[in-house]
Amino acid sequence: MNKKWMIVFFILAWTFPVSVHADKIVNTNSTYTYEEMQGDLEQLDDTYGDLVEVFDIGDSVYDRDIYLVKLGYGDDHVLYNGSHHAREWLTTILNMNMIEEYAKGYLGETSFPSYNAKQVLDDTSIWFVPMVNPDGVTLQQKGLSAFPEEVHDKLIEWNEGSTNFKRWKANAQGIDLNRQYPSGWNNVTKTSRSYKNFKGDYPLQAPEAKVMRDLQYLLNPELTISYHTAGQIMYWNYRIEPEDYERNSRIARNYSRFSGYDLVQFESNGSGYTDWVLDYWDQPALTPELAVYPGPTNVDPARFPTAWENNKVAGLYAAREGFDISDRDYREKAEMWLDHRTKRLLEEEGENYTRVQALDERYQLHPVQMMELYSWYQSCQNCSAQSLSEEMEGLKAFDEWKEEKTVQPNHVFTVRFNTDLTAASRSSESFYLQTENGEDMETGAVQGGEDTVLVYPPKGGYESRETYSLYIKDITSEEEYEMEKEIAFTFHVE
Ligand SMILES: [Zn+2]
Repeated sequence: MNKKWMIVFFILAWTFPVSVHADKIVNTNSTYTYEEMQGDLEQLDDTYGDLVEVFDIGDSVYDRDIYLVKLGYGDDHVLYNGSHHAREWLTTILNMNMIEEYAKGYLGETSFPSYNAKQVLDDTSIWFVPMVNPDGVTLQQKGLSAFPEEVHDKLIEWNEGSTNFKRWKANAQGIDLNRQYPSGWNNVTKTSRSYKNFKGDYPLQAPEAKVMRDLQYLLNPELTISYHTAGQIMYWNYRIEPEDYERNSRIARNYSRFSGYDLVQFESNGSGYTDWVLDYWDQPALTPELAVYPGPTNVDPARFPTAWENNKVAGLYAAREGFDISDRDYREKAEMWLDHRTKRLLEEEGENYTRVQALDERYQLHPVQMMELYSWYQSCQNCSAQSLSEEMEGLKAFDEWKEEKTVQPNHVFTVRFNTDLTAASRSSESFYLQTENGEDMETGAVQGGEDTVLVYPPKGGYESRETYSLYIKDITSEEEYEMEKEIAFTFHVE
């Protein structure tokens, strides 16, 4: 019996963005603030239609939004991020400029050497978290005035007595977000709150790091890039397995060739996002450091044009690589690691992630739906079953399993729906056959329960070497959703 045939709901009906000739949205030569990013994201979302989708996926400690952006239409996924470290907000400008310039590239309004942005983004979706640490960036740029007065003393203490916050790297709890990931966390020595390097009381304590963890679990990207700014070098090789060495070193060397960044040959100290992806997920991950080390402060935005030249093609290259390396066996291995090494963490901390995952198992969600649901869970207070089903209604649609196939004459189809059906829907009224020349035929019998229907062949079986279509119509779910359109599934008999 073949269980493969499912009614999966929802394939995105993409509408193509109209060609636009907008003025440049992202100002790359400024002290790029959280508020500026918010405004630009809104404009990018409006300007580029479905090509650019923006999600609010969680809050920082002081209620600033953490944004996720999806760029492109591909079924393979890569994830880029910036500003884990507060003073390194040049990386946010890079993320934002990539979104805008690659979108322009998709529409043919600009072009890049070596890679066609449209081709790349039709195969790979690039997801961005341009500012992982909006509180930290804001503290670094604006100082104490942007925070409630009652926390000023603590912030000054964690800044070693200074009211100048230019060197600040941590979030506003004095936790260094890039020392928060489980891989190598035990080896980090800084154990008290500070403007840099404090690893937290336990891994993934800070809400900003939790959001990144959840994204990693939900998207399971083929490749990730975390942008930082200290030194025009690149980290790439933390605890990689011997069998991944060739793939990972090839990708690192190529990124290095496009960007000019030297590969760091020793391993990092661990506990960073890149380290965690490399170690736990066995997937390629890179930490390019964008600029000449400026000392303990931010890089001057005047350096941005060089950073852009170094990374504009490299970013497209890495997205193309995400498509090229997908569907290899490391995916399976990643899931195994998830079971064995991090299940406990998820049970304790990953509630919203696990909720979305459970819905995904049941409904086979598109990643955009997963992010919409995750975003909903992250922001809802007292999430009730009622409000969830309202949310789900907006996402609901039926579509057919598209692949044609060949079956045995006595084949029994198992049709699984994404929802429980009314008893009336599980009948030969709703399931019937047609021969190739359009003659209607009854199926043998229709049985099943809840969300599953078994369709038996006509008496004596299907005729060998014939082609039939199985039609499904007038299906109603227990929640009284009606299937919107008739489904036809064509198959051949051996
Ligand atoms: Zn950094």
